[in-house]
Amino acid sequence: MDNKLDLRAKKVLVTGADGFLAHHVVAELKKRPPLTLIRADRAGYDLREGGAVRALLSDYSPDVVINMAGLVGGILVNEQRPAEFFYDNLMMGALVLHESWRMGVEKYLACICGCCYPDGAPSPIKEDMLWDGYPQRGSAPYAIAKKVIAVQSEAYRRQYGFNSIVLVPGNVYGPHENFNLNDSHVVPALIRKFYEAMRDNRSSVKVWGSGSPVRDFVYAGDAAAAIVLALEEYEGGDIINISSGSATSIRELVEIISDLFGYTGRIDWDRSRPDGQAVKVFDNTRMKQTLGYECRTSLREGIRKTIEWFSECYPRGIVRS
Ligand code: GDP
Repeated sequence: MDNKLDLRAKKVLVTGADGFLAHHVVAELKKRPPLTLIRADRAGYDLREGGAVRALLSDYSPDVVINMAGLVGGILVNEQRPAEFFYDNLMMGALVLHESWRMGVEKYLACICGCCYPDGAPSPIKEDMLWDGYPQRGSAPYAIAKKVIAVQSEAYRRQYGFNSIVLVPGNVYGPHENFNLNDSHVVPALIRKFYEAMRDNRSSVKVWGSGSPVRDFVYAGDAAAAIVLALEEYEGGDIINISSGSATSIRELVEIISDLFGYTGRIDWDRSRPDGQAVKVFDNTRMKQTLGYECRTSLREGIRKTIEWFSECYPRGIVRS
C-alpha cells in the first residue's frame, strides 16, 4: 500500500505492555528492527491521571502509540467492581488518545473488545452492530467505557485529522493469558484443567455448560499480526473486527484439547454452570477486505502452542493463575 507506515524508523510506545495481547503485539513489533520500542506497564505511570500521561509522552516523545492499557478481568470481578472498571477504562482511554493527539503523535491505535457489542447480537457480529443495543449487563460498565473510544477516535480524525484507528479483537487465546480458573476464559481454563488431570492422574475433568455454545477463537499471535498490519496500513474511522471467522463448539474445543493431552478419562459436563451466549462469532469480512489479512494458525495448532507454553511455564510459577 502507498501510505504504508514504515515502523522500522519509528519510536513506538505500547501502554499496558504487561498485558496478555500486548505481549504478542510487542513480539510482532520486534520483528521490525531497528524499531525503537517503549513499553509502559502499570508500575510506571498512572494513566488515569492527565499529568502522568503527559509525563509519559513527553519523557519518550513517541511517533506511534498503541494503547493496550486497561483494567481487565472476568465477569465476576466486573460485577464486583463496576465503578472501577468504568472509571479506569474511561479515563485511560480518553486521556491517552487526547494527549497523544496534543503531543502530535503520528499514528494511534487502540483496541476495544467483543463485549462492546450488544448483548445477544446476532452472529456473525458485524462492526455496524456496535450501537444497536446495550452490552451484556455484567460487563457493561467496562464495555461502555471501551466503546466510547471508537467515538473519540472518529471524532478526532474528523475534526483534527488525527490518524487514530480502533480494532475489536474477538475471542483471543494464547500464551500469557490469565489461567485462573475462577476468572479465565474457556481456552486457558480447559488447558489448565486437562494439564492438572494428566499430572494428577484424575479420572474425570469437569467442563462447564452443555458443550453446544459456539465461538470463533483467534490465536493471539494472529491477532497481534493483524493489529500491527492495521497500524502500518489502515487509515480509517471505521472499527475493524479481528477474528478467525471460523465457528467452533465448546464440545469440539474440548475434543481438541483432550486429544492433544492424550487424555482418555471421562468428561463431566457441569450443566449448573451457564452456557452464556449460544453463538458468538465475529464477522471478519472487513479485516479480510481492508487489511488483506487472514488468520493463519489453525485452532489445533494454536492450542498446541499454548499447551506447550503453559506446560513449560506453569510448573515454574510464571503463569497468571
Ligand atoms: P464467553 O465467550 O464470554 O461466553 O466466555 P468464556 O470463554 O468464559 O466461556 C465460553 C463458553 O465456554 C461458555 O459456554 C462456558 O460455559 C464454556 N466453558 C466450559 N468450560 C469452561 C471453563 O472451565 N471456564 C470457562 N470460563 N468457560 C467454560
